[in-house]
Amino acid sequence: MTKTAFRKIALLGATGSIGKQTLDLIRSAPEKYQLTSLSAAGNNLEELAKIINEFQPSLVSVNSVESAQKLNELLAIKKSQTQTNQNKTEILHGLDGLNQVATHSEADTTLVAVVGSVGLEPTIEAIKKSKRLIVANKETLVAAGELINQLLIKHQTTLLPADSEHVAIHQCLKGCKASQVRNIYLTASGGPFLNSNINLEDITVKMALNHPTWNMGAKITIDCATLMNKGLEVIEAESLFNLGYDKIQALIHPQSIIHGLVEFIDGNVMAQLGPNDMRLPIQYALDEPEREANLSGKFLDFKTIKKLEFDEPDIKRFPCFRLAYEAGQKGNTYPAVLGAADEIAVELFLQEKIKFNEIPKIIEETLSVHSPSKADSLATIRDADEWARNKAKEIASKQKQVLV
Ligand code: MG
Repeated sequence: MTKTAFRKIALLGATGSIGKQTLDLIRSAPEKYQLTSLSAAGNNLEELAKIINEFQPSLVSVNSVESAQKLNELLAIKKSQTQTNQNKTEILHGLDGLNQVATHSEADTTLVAVVGSVGLEPTIEAIKKSKRLIVANKETLVAAGELINQLLIKHQTTLLPADSEHVAIHQCLKGCKASQVRNIYLTASGGPFLNSNINLEDITVKMALNHPTWNMGAKITIDCATLMNKGLEVIEAESLFNLGYDKIQALIHPQSIIHGLVEFIDGNVMAQLGPNDMRLPIQYALDEPEREANLSGKFLDFKTIKKLEFDEPDIKRFPCFRLAYEAGQKGNTYPAVLGAADEIAVELFLQEKIKFNEIPKIIEETLSVHSPSKADSLATIRDADEWARNKAKEIASKQKQVLV
């Protein structure tokens, strides 16, 4: 009989797409998973109060002091109405609150599902407390992969991805030596504009948010449409598997059934297939090294899969992939700058202040004027991140003469 995984989970980003799917897994297996602490942006406090009443975490953190006050009021009302929040949940706010959630003494596993570079510091703090890390926040691994790897060795703990492609590669690589690997392939659906002749200038926010096969948050959905997501995933893969950039390939696979492949030097290829539901890779990361019954209820139905297609990514039309690859190869603070400039460009696009085809232009120009430093401390990475955000805004406002 195999041992059942039992995880006490600190969840950062509980109300985002990955966070909600993690809560869904915790809800379906309370005998396996327990939520000790969580963070949420605090945009929807009613929803957050419901989550707190359901899971009774010891500690919660939201972005601002105002949200923390409102949440405390809401919980007091709910408590008097229903008597459900029997245990007092402590409510904190800001970066300090986020760090306390990530390092909560009751948690053994910290799952980082916040969006963007805000995930960096709590990830590092959790590693310093030797928590077992699961990172869905790729920006953290992109900006600080080398530093994180050094800290994982120093504090003798492990980090697993929750990204579907990297979970696929992690499975295919089990039991092999790096010298036996010829190539790894990360698959990409190609986003909504694969094989579309639409002029990139004419792409609207609504069109870009309409992803054909995955249901995800807004930032990552835009990153999929520009192919930046796959570029960030190449850097993430290098940080996780350390095989060298020349061995990491991206492959367009519109059906999103194969999530990653490993080609070995003897010509054999291992692929990981699965339903395109993020609860599978999250559950894999939670249960690893065990493998346990699927909690999502989703399984592949091979009778309905008529074809598996593959193609090369069109990096001429979607230059973000090339920009990411180059930034990864250059190393130092270039990946941190790439990630931060992308966050700003995507935000401006979502606010309809720039056009879709201006996203890569802003990122490329920001990278071209960057003076790199060695990305060996949190302070250096933060400085590069802040510099890149300001520079990207400046470039965008010069180009568009918009107030940003
Ligand atoms: Mg992915």
